[in-house]
Amino acid sequence: MKGKTYSLFGDEVSADKYYITIRSLIDALLRLCPDKEKLLMHVQRAGGSRPGRKNISSIDNGLISSIKAEAREKLSAYTTGVKGHLRSMSLGQRMDPVLRTKEPQYHLYMLEIELVNRMYRDEFKRCDYKFALLPHCLRDFRPDCASVPADVEEACMGCTDECFINLGGELMKKYDIHPYISVNMDLEGLFRKLRSEHPSIGALGVACVPELAQGMRLCIKLGIPPVGIPLNANRCARWMKEARESSFDIRELEELIK
Ligand code: SF4
Repeated sequence: MKGKTYSLFGDEVSADKYYITIRSLIDALLRLCPDKEKLLMHVQRAGGSRPGRKNISSIDNGLISSIKAEAREKLSAYTTGVKGHLRSMSLGQRMDPVLRTKEPQYHLYMLEIELVNRMYRDEFKRCDYKFALLPHCLRDFRPDCASVPADVEEACMGCTDECFINLGGELMKKYDIHPYISVNMDLEGLFRKLRSEHPSIGALGVACVPELAQGMRLCIKLGIPPVGIPLNANRCARWMKEARESSFDIRELEELIK
């Protein structure tokens, strides 16, 4: 599973080692800083996010250095395509902040996703209404996708059993999560609308690493507890010249939502 910039497979035949690595990294960082919210603020700060005024005095530069060093050492194996991609970007691509994400930021986003999952998983599960957004690039490319417009985004019609959208969606339904295929570019507008319709709402995202981390931040800002699973690699047409099928780790999804 080769991606344009990253692959959770690294040199392996599955993402198993990645998930072991990211968990042990977060465990180690939580030993340095047991307060998850404080650690999240430092992970974001390590990537250049500005802390709120009330947090400025509690910035621990030693912790930020440790986060950056640990992340670079343990996660570089999964981001070997970033430098080449950044060198080969067209002028148009350089205008897209997601496409010009730098390698250290991928590592910090990976940490952020794992940490946010730990912080919000229980709250997400307690929500009365839980929805999930899956990207179109996860579909099986062989049949013409039979998805249809739904009350939210698009709904999978289950035309093939080998489609990751269908597989993931069926698993989500088992846990009372409403799965949709993401087509709307205005995520903030969509989240605000759903938030106004459902007072107790949680969001599950499946997306490439930078977009998932940013989507989780948006949810937290809007008071929606988020969880998420990163795509195994970034392979859609936005990254590649032509779209290639992608996947995510179904076992990790079930671990997260069961
Ligand atoms: S299973 Fe669903 S998402 Fe996959 S190709 Fe068919 S309709 Fe589209």
